[in-house]
Amino acid sequence: MPVCTHCAYPADYVYTTYKTKSNIRLGVCLRCDQFLDPLIEHPGLVILLDLILLKPRVFLHLLFNMGSPPFDADKGIAIPALDQQRRREYQIRKDMMKLILISAIAETALRVLPHMISSSGVTPAHICAIAGTVFLEGIAQHIVTITLALQALKHRRWYPCDPPEAEKDDAKSDGRQKHFLPTLIPLTILYTSIIPLSLQLLLMIWVTPSQSHLTTTSLFSTLPFIVPQQLLELERALIEAWAHTDKIWIGTRLLGGMSAGFGLRVLLPTKPWETTVIILAGWMSAAFIGQMAERLLVK
Ligand SMILES: [Zn+2]
Repeated sequence: MPVCTHCAYPADYVYTTYKTKSNIRLGVCLRCDQFLDPLIEHPGLVILLDLILLKPRVFLHLLFNMGSPPFDADKGIAIPALDQQRRREYQIRKDMMKLILISAIAETALRVLPHMISSSGVTPAHICAIAGTVFLEGIAQHIVTITLALQALKHRRWYPCDPPEAEKDDAKSDGRQKHFLPTLIPLTILYTSIIPLSLQLLLMIWVTPSQSHLTTTSLFSTLPFIVPQQLLELERALIEAWAHTDKIWIGTRLLGGMSAGFGLRVLLPTKPWETTVIILAGWMSAAFIGQMAERLLVK
């Protein structure tokens, strides 16, 4: 169930094979007249770079085109739509399992590593409890995100389709809508979470946080007029809070949020503020469940 990576026009096949599997011809989009998906021929590194650069075409490639069967010119027989649908669902399930495993291991490692580095040490039971918390947080985040996103899509009659996609004007046809599946929402978030998680892990291992004590330079105290004592105390509290904050964590989480928002903007027709609310609600529910699970499991 592929789509054009330039204009999202639905297509039957991304490419055609002749004689041997290596002899292929890329399909051309009927609407924009460009190759449907040049990424099919590119190595994994280019796809990874596109994912880092958040190029829209990479999301359409990963979500709709990757693993879709080609048209076999020698046999000349089209693959039935039901078969294509089954293959696609299998591919999505496979990708999702792989990404869940990678992100769960990375997130658990991020939380276990500080205990291992410090003198407090960590027991296998503690690692299992942290992994359980990560798992519960993930479930909460994806349930809330998917529920809110589907509500937004239902509200704008985008999914389920109204009128059905088959009855629409062919020139306006949207492949994202025609081939949409709710599982594509968590899949997008998982794809966009891998880069920030890897970055956070790398920074945690390679960057030693500076032990410089907070500079107590107060901006308010340098002003030429007297500032109320409450304001000075508030400023001191903010400086202290900032000094004790994990900047790497904040930076990579912000990057993760922006990437997830961008990925969902490519997949869904929602407005930027709707996407932001959906992502934030997912995060907040994950944080809430995480705190509850930590109290029950970790301590
Ligand atoms: Zn196109």
